[in-house]
Parts: sequence; structure tokens; C-alpha cells
Amino acid sequence: MLTCPKCGSQDVMVAPPNNYVCPRCGHTWDIGSLDSGWIEEEAKVYRTWGELVDDALRSPDCETLARRVAELVGADERRARQIARRILREVMEELRLKGLGERALREIERC
Ligand SMILES: [Zn+2]
Repeated sequence: MLTCPKCGSQDVMVAPPNNYVCPRCGHTWDIGSLDSGWIEEEAKVYRTWGELVDDALRSPDCETLARRVAELVGADERRARQIARRILREVMEELRLKGLGERALREIERC
């Protein structure tokens, strides 16, 4: 599992063309030699992020979101759930404002 060298967060993303970026602390670093399947998957997540966030905001349901991720990104089930959790955490503030914060937290827990 790739982690941010600065803060240790596991929610590392690929920033085209050639960097990793940590959404938590903003640290970016070069992509060295690594698993190209993972990069491809992250690039697809990056491209479909807006769509996935819209889905999450409409209905913060991890099951549904993970299915959507699997569909759009082609990730396996375990990865799809991981990505779904990441999206839910990302939109948590907005969900709280909509009164869906509690539900989203439960979804993240059981996802
Ligand atoms: Zn970081």
C-alpha cells in the first residue's frame, strides 16, 4: 500500500502527468517505478471523480457507490469499496450540511 511520505495518509492519488499527490496534506512527489495497473486505475478514478462525487452526494450509500466505482473504474470489489470510502470521506462536509453526515459515517464504517 502506497502512503504519503509526509503525513502517512493512504489516500494517495495520481496527479497527471507524473506525480503523486496526497489530498490530505497536499504533498506531491514523483512517480518512481511502480505498479502500472494501480496508476491506470487511479487515472480512471481521477477522470470519473466528479461523476462519482455527484453520485455520493445524491445517495451516500457505500454499496451503490462501490458498484458504480467498479463499473466506471473497473476496480475489483475490495478496491472499489476502498475508493467508495475515500469518496464518502471527501464529500463528508457537504453531506453533513445536507443532514446526511451520520448516515455517511455509518456507511463508511460498514463498507
Ligand atoms: Zn500527506
